[in-house]
Amino acid sequence: MIKVIVNGAYGRMGRTVLNAVINDPELELVGAVDVIGGADSGEISGNKKNAIVVETDLTKALIEKKPDVMIDFTQPQAVFQNVITALENKVSPVVGTTGLSDAEKEIIRETSEKFDTPVFIAPNFAIGAVLMMLVSKQIAKYMPDVEIIELHHDKKLDAPSGTAELTAKMIAEVRESHQQGHPNEVEKMDHVRGANYDGIRIHSVRLPGYVAHQEVIFGGLGQTLTIRHDSTGRDSFMPGVLLACKKVRSLKGLTVGLDKLLD
Ligand code: NAP
Repeated sequence: MIKVIVNGAYGRMGRTVLNAVINDPELELVGAVDVIGGADSGEISGNKKNAIVVETDLTKALIEKKPDVMIDFTQPQAVFQNVITALENKVSPVVGTTGLSDAEKEIIRETSEKFDTPVFIAPNFAIGAVLMMLVSKQIAKYMPDVEIIELHHDKKLDAPSGTAELTAKMIAEVRESHQQGHPNEVEKMDHVRGANYDGIRIHSVRLPGYVAHQEVIFGGLGQTLTIRHDSTGRDSFMPGVLLACKKVRSLKGLTVGLDKLLD
């Protein structure tokens, strides 16, 4: 059994993750942490099996519960320190929280190597989203003019989404950097053309009613091609999270992206 602690247990993702871990026969939920403690995991996840009390002190929980893996779905401003704390306690982080900068990921890589403890980060744990990114990278070789529209619920704290950022990075690996649109175009309202990643425009929509969605639109002579992925429920992320928990201890250092775990 792989012992798991869930950080961010009260959150929208945390609750779904608790339920998924409890139901997986290869995983054992040994701890749950959030800013507010006290409630039992059964109460917040709706799954009364093996209920445990939510704690507030991550370091204490890591030392006392001795998990193999810490799943983190917290907040952009908290995730970096959580990951470092887990690594210093030789617990492997499986990280879904988005918003980590490249500089922070580099420090995480170094800390992971220093403590000989692997860490896994995925901006998107949904298999469909991973396939969208891989297919987009292929298409961009032949249709290099591309824009990304990501759409999320209005409680999301960071923009653009980690998925949009990773999609743009993957596309940039295979296409020549170039500016898109008319060379003399003028933005009559600030940021109306979206963010600019190596010439690829990224647009972020935040509205109630959405979960997590993304369109990658390619334009060519007399044609467009649109790839769209929709996570209509948080369950879509669970198979990827559970797979990462089972595989992370066999990895080395820092691994980013669910595609690295697929055969
Ligand atoms: P959420 O509902 O705000 O949940 C985050 C939870 O973490 C809240 O209960 C929050 O408490 C708690 N928290 C904040 N700081 C903490 C800390 N230092 N220690 C422990 N707990 C802490 O957010 P969500 O919708 O579940 O999303 C969480 C993250 O996952 C976001 O970054 C989101 O973008 C990301 N996400 C990733 C994927 C993926 O596939 N990788 C999928 C969906 C979402 P308070 O509310 O009291 O601050």
